[in-house]
Amino acid sequence: MLRPDSFADRLSGVSLDGLAALGIRGVIVDLDNTLVGYGQEQLEPEDAAWIAAAVARGFGIVLVSNNFTGRVDRVSRELGVPGISSALKPLPYGFLRALRLLQTPRRATVVVGDQLFTDVLGAKFLGLHSILTHPIVPHDWLGTKVLRLLERIVLGRRIAPEPRERP
Ligand SMILES: [Mg+2]
Repeated sequence: MLRPDSFADRLSGVSLDGLAALGIRGVIVDLDNTLVGYGQEQLEPEDAAWIAAAVARGFGIVLVSNNFTGRVDRVSRELGVPGISSALKPLPYGFLRALRLLQTPRRATVVVGDQLFTDVLGAKFLGLHSILTHPIVPHDWLGTKVLRLLERIVLGRRIAPEPRERP
């Protein structure tokens, strides 16, 4: 239930060819520490370029964040993709809204995010693919810090897998 389908260092490290090969057409992207560092304002150019390339290839993209409307709207406007704020991840509410916007079947949809207990767990609840990224910046709000500790316990060495462990 808590194992992501795959890992990526950053959103921009997710292979669009790889997603296409899996039949994925819809991508749900977390905002804080996946697209924008916690407490930061600026998008990384590589991540903005990744979103643009994905849209150009015909992938549907929706941002789904537990953060407030203002921050989510600003990034979603900048990227030109829809954003859902106050999503209550890992509960299905925000993800189901995203699926309605994407109009992709669950098996053709992936969630990309930096947190096991919101992004990956929420994806698993709905049968979506999941990719766990490394957080952009290591510091987070207090609630997230507690979840990070649990993540390390659950994931153990899987959080930074040795290349030879992965076929
Ligand atoms: Mg996040």
